[in-house]
Amino acid sequence: MEELKKSCHRCKKEIQEKEIHKIVIYVVQEKFTEHHYEHVECPDKFTV
Ligand SMILES: [Zn+2]
Repeated sequence: MEELKKSCHRCKKEIQEKEIHKIVIYVVQEKFTEHHYEHVECPDKFTV
């Protein structure tokens, strides 16, 4: 089984499998094979 490691494009934190419903996925325009992942709300958004 291949395990995909996803990390948030903004906070660079690894996205857990259980958080999968809380992320935004978008395609990189220049490379349509690449996807980026972002938290809807990054966990560290409250930190400076
Ligand atoms: Zn994040």
